[in-house]
Amino acid sequence: MNVTVWNENVAETNQVKEVLDVHPNGIHNTVREIVEELGEDVHVTTATLQEENLGLTDEVLDHTDVLIWWAHCAHDQVPDELVAKIHQRVLSGMGLILLHSAHYSKLLKQILGTSGDLYWRDETYERMFCVNPTHPIAEGIPECIELGTEECYAEFFDIPKPDDVIFISWFDIGEVFRSGCTWTRGFGKIFYFQPGHETNHSYQNPYVRKIIQNACRWACPTAHKIREGAPHIDVTREEQRAQQAEKE
Ligand code: ZN
Repeated sequence: MNVTVWNENVAETNQVKEVLDVHPNGIHNTVREIVEELGEDVHVTTATLQEENLGLTDEVLDHTDVLIWWAHCAHDQVPDELVAKIHQRVLSGMGLILLHSAHYSKLLKQILGTSGDLYWRDETYERMFCVNPTHPIAEGIPECIELGTEECYAEFFDIPKPDDVIFISWFDIGEVFRSGCTWTRGFGKIFYFQPGHETNHSYQNPYVRKIIQNACRWACPTAHKIREGAPHIDVTREEQRAQQAEKE
């Protein structure tokens, strides 16, 4: 499995101390280390906004089974042509994991077709409940995770009805949020996961790490779109039935 971790890397490039204190090598490398714990059969690379083609050339995308996306303030700097390319690849089978403020990314808006808007509150205490314990992404995850301080995202979250809601979060200021949701689009599997504000420590939480790892395994393509255009039919249904009747 090839996983590519994309990060806008803006706060890190601007040497924002509060972010570098939590992610000394950038959020992309924090997430890369999480995915690498899956083992030697998983190859992880990183890409950032500052690289040529945002680090996402056709060659990189062609070799990506699962794309992980972390972005906050630079959504507009992702070219529409790249969004369209990633969209097509998701429809053809590439997995996509959208982390935290990627709820406002062009990718989420285009692929899911809604605004991704939500009700925002400041940082507070978050407790995350697993409400779908048999889902592969919830494997090894307890009923409830005490996340501690996180940025509060609250309902209404403008997303299309998910295939599965796996996690719901409660915040101690009286808010709730669908913090882990999945969809399928074409052959591609998509997971949105709320924790991961850049100055919080959620990515050090062992259960959050396990969820991201499970999500990579889950989103890895199990089927690809290969056939293009109208299906090619060699024999009609009537001919098939006649051949079957002959055999019987
Ligand atoms: Zn945030």
